[in-house]
Amino acid sequence: MEIKLEHVGFRYQTITDYVALKNINMKIQEGKITGLIGTSGSGKTTLLELIDGLLIPTQGKITVGDFTFGKGIPLKNPNEMHSKIGFVFQFPETQFFNTTVKQELEVSLNLFHYKLEQKEQRIKDALLMMEMDESFLDRDPYTLSNGEKRKIAIASVLVYNPKVLLLDEPTIGLDYQSKKSLIRLLVLLKKRYNKTILIATHDVDLIHKIADYIYILSDKTILLEGNKYEVFKQVDYLKEHKIDVPKVMEFPFLVYKKKNIKIGYRDEINDLIKDIYRYAK
Ligand code: ADP
Ligand code: MG
Repeated sequence: MEIKLEHVGFRYQTITDYVALKNINMKIQEGKITGLIGTSGSGKTTLLELIDGLLIPTQGKITVGDFTFGKGIPLKNPNEMHSKIGFVFQFPETQFFNTTVKQELEVSLNLFHYKLEQKEQRIKDALLMMEMDESFLDRDPYTLSNGEKRKIAIASVLVYNPKVLLLDEPTIGLDYQSKKSLIRLLVLLKKRYNKTILIATHDVDLIHKIADYIYILSDKTILLEGNKYEVFKQVDYLKEHKIDVPKVMEFPFLVYKKKNIKIGYRDEINDLIKDIYRYAK
């Protein structure tokens, strides 16, 4: 499902009014991984909540597949749209409240009124998507490792087989190995299951590895967009806006700037190191 945002703005109308987003234009392609990068407080979570229909734009409109909503345009059939979007909140495992993984995975299936046989199959499929076996079903979710908890939290959304996945800081708080394993699974969700994936994160090294397209959010709006090379080669411009640059992109940039030596861009740090050795010989 393609997602389109046209001139979207959002103002929190709480005790004091606060404009969180201004004039956002985005086109999130079906079956791709799109990265949404921004510093803390830049509006990433607000943007995901808008796409999920949890918040309604105070300016502009949003289209998710066949569903359109926005300022003055109410969302028709919200339940149907919600069955197509899976939203994985930041630190989703803090919201576990059941004593077994199986019950945890059934929560959203009960919401959508699945029959018993269907439930079993959906749970098996979701576990398979996270490359976990059925021995996890009887475990207490609180006894799992951090990486396993995160995968079960994602599986608890995958059970109803949404076409779109919105992930808010999916790797936050995980160790290196768990991050690596999760990243691989996210790429498989795209490749094997054709999911449309939007990842909000401040982890540029992660997004550089997996995103097909990147949006940079700064000063409440989109500062830059493009593929990873187009975006991350603008090192000085990004730094001016306090956006980190992936190490594999920053290093060649610095070497060129300081020493006028061109070593070219690489995706993997190991390849970059080999290039440097070759150059130094
Ligand atoms: P990010 O996810 O990029 O850290 P958020 O979308 O959470 O950013 O927040 C964007 C801005 O909106 C922040 O300045 C935050 O303080 C503000 N904000 C978030 N939620 C509310 C709310 N319920 N009421 C008022 N302001 C809010
Ligand atoms: Mg956030």
